[in-house]
Amino acid sequence: MNLAVKAPRRQRGNSRAAESFPQPTARPQPAALLAWYDRHRRRLPWRAAPGKRSDPYRVWLSEIMLQQTTVKAVAPYYARFLARWPDVRALAAAPLDEVLKGWAGLGYYSRARNLHACACAVVARHGGIFPSDEAALRALPGIGGYTAAAIAAIAYDAAVVPVDGNVERVIARLYAVETPLPAAKRDIGQLARGFRPQNRAGDFAQALMDLGATICTPKRPACSLCPWRGGCVAQARGEAEAFPRRTPKREGALRRGAAFVARRTDGYLLLRTRPPRGLLGGMTEVPTNAWTVDFEAADALKDAPRFSRNVSGKKDIAWRRVPGIVRHVFTHFPLELVVYAAEIPTNAQPPKGARWVALDAIAEEALPSLMRKVIAHGLGL
Ligand code: SF4
Repeated sequence: MNLAVKAPRRQRGNSRAAESFPQPTARPQPAALLAWYDRHRRRLPWRAAPGKRSDPYRVWLSEIMLQQTTVKAVAPYYARFLARWPDVRALAAAPLDEVLKGWAGLGYYSRARNLHACACAVVARHGGIFPSDEAALRALPGIGGYTAAAIAAIAYDAAVVPVDGNVERVIARLYAVETPLPAAKRDIGQLARGFRPQNRAGDFAQALMDLGATICTPKRPACSLCPWRGGCVAQARGEAEAFPRRTPKREGALRRGAAFVARRTDGYLLLRTRPPRGLLGGMTEVPTNAWTVDFEAADALKDAPRFSRNVSGKKDIAWRRVPGIVRHVFTHFPLELVVYAAEIPTNAQPPKGARWVALDAIAEEALPSLMRKVIAHGLGL
């Protein structure tokens, strides 16, 4: 069994091979990390028992859900998805709308659309069996380099090292990588490829993830408990927390807009479905205007939903501005919405593209968390 670390090969065009980074005095050994993992591995719902091979469907489902999302937030969604769609064929056979509803509240909704598209592709192209090859995995919808490597390593024991944010941090500290992220991704990826355990590759990948998640944490890493502390340059320098270096983030400009919570007097709410592509694509929302950096609050009611004038017996709906603002932060911009609410007569027809939904049925809708906040605000809940 050869668990020794191989130095990454110098690649054409890569001027920052491992040799150009400060070298740990003792090379971090996969065997030490695996021994630590055998004692301290996290118990995760999608993880196979020790010595067992993971189901590729479960690995894939969990990895897609975990993108930009915490383990705690993902766990109940994962359990519900698995109970309802226990394998990739079941998920592929489900209507997209049902998958989006199941995903509602987990955020980054393009993942749900890709999840469904990927399930369909696995059934159509691979007979319902996830391929084991990284390239074939990457060709599937929604599967990028990291997820392909994670499935290949964890489900098929391929000798690859998936590099997520946790692993990036561990590698950047081991070698004190001075290049800031995101530019350092390529160097870190190459350094990670230097660890090519010939045995237990899936366990090694998960051990690295666990090390980053539980010991080599962003703040106050527990270096005294780390199986690799003897071979860590950043720790030896006493500046573990300073790595990985980061390029200061440029905040997206604040966008603002208005949302309209129209409630029928018999307890129905006006909802509509967003276009399938783009931000919150295919999700349910209350009517809103465009969200812009130069939103003029004084003009907000120009975009309020219009109802037919004769059914209610009067032309104008009495919109009232609900005090306060609903704030939300997307990855690339923060958003502030003012909310208008109105009581609408029961005989009012919904405007084109919108529909009335009973209040006690809105939990079934694919409402993103932003819209849940807006509705709660508009209804004074
Ligand atoms: S010694 Fe500390 S900084 Fe280095 S890898 Fe271990 S936990 Fe991270």
